[in-house]
Amino acid sequence: MPNKRSAYLTIDDSPCEHTEALADFLHERQIPALLFVRGAFMEQNPKAIEYAIQKGLVIGNHSYAHKPAGEMEPQEWADDLEKCDHLIDAAYARCDVDRPGKYYRFPYIDRGDGVRVERIFADGDTAEIVENNKTSILQQYLKDQGFTQPFKNMPAGYPSHAVDCLFTYTSGDWMLTDRHKGKWEYKSVEDLKRRIDEDENLQSKGPHVLLMHDQSDIHAEACALIDYFYQQGFEFLDF
Ligand SMILES: [Zn+2]
Repeated sequence: MPNKRSAYLTIDDSPCEHTEALADFLHERQIPALLFVRGAFMEQNPKAIEYAIQKGLVIGNHSYAHKPAGEMEPQEWADDLEKCDHLIDAAYARCDVDRPGKYYRFPYIDRGDGVRVERIFADGDTAEIVENNKTSILQQYLKDQGFTQPFKNMPAGYPSHAVDCLFTYTSGDWMLTDRHKGKWEYKSVEDLKRRIDEDENLQSKGPHVLLMHDQSDIHAEACALIDYFYQQGFEFLDF
C-alpha cells in the first residue's frame, strides 16, 4: 500500500457570501480546515463564521483590515490584530464552543519586512523567510499573546520557530479572481491542476500546508481545486 500524501488545508480571507456553502462542502467530505478570517468581513457577515465553527472548522486570525504589516508600525499592526481577535473570541462564545487555539496569518504573508511571500511562490521560486528587527518584534508579540502553530506534525523545511502560520504550497486560486484573471501564467482551474501535478515538493508524502482562499468570485474554483487534491488521494489532517 503506497504511503498517502497528507496535507493541512488552510483557507484565507473568510468570510464571504459562500462561506456557509464552503463549510458544507468540507463537512460533507469530512475535510478539516483552518479558516483565516478578516475582521472587517466578519463584522459584515458574523453568522457565516458561527456556521463554520458549528461545522467543525477552526478559525484563525488574518487581521482586521488586511493591510500589509510592512506598511504599519508595530502598535498599529497589534491593534488591528486585536480587533479581529475579539471578534473571533465573541464568535466562539456565541457558539458555546471552546476556541481550540490562537493562530495568525499575516495578510499577503508580509511578516513585517514588506515581502509578499505568496507572490514569490506564485513565480515558482522558493520563499525565503526574512528576519529583521521588525519581524522579530511582531513574532515576539504573537508569542506573548499565546499564538502558536496549529500543526501537530511539522512539514519538512517549515520554520517551526515562526509563530505565525505559513504554508508550503499556494494553490494560486487567487489568480482566477476577477481582479487577477488572465494577468498570470495560470488562467483556469485546469492550469492550476496541472501546476499541482507538476509541483516537485507536492510529490513528497508531506504533510503539506495548502493555502486556498474563501472569496466570492472564486468559490467554485477553490472547491474544484480542493476536490482535485482529494481525488489525488491527499489525506487532510486534523488540527
Ligand atoms: Zn489574505
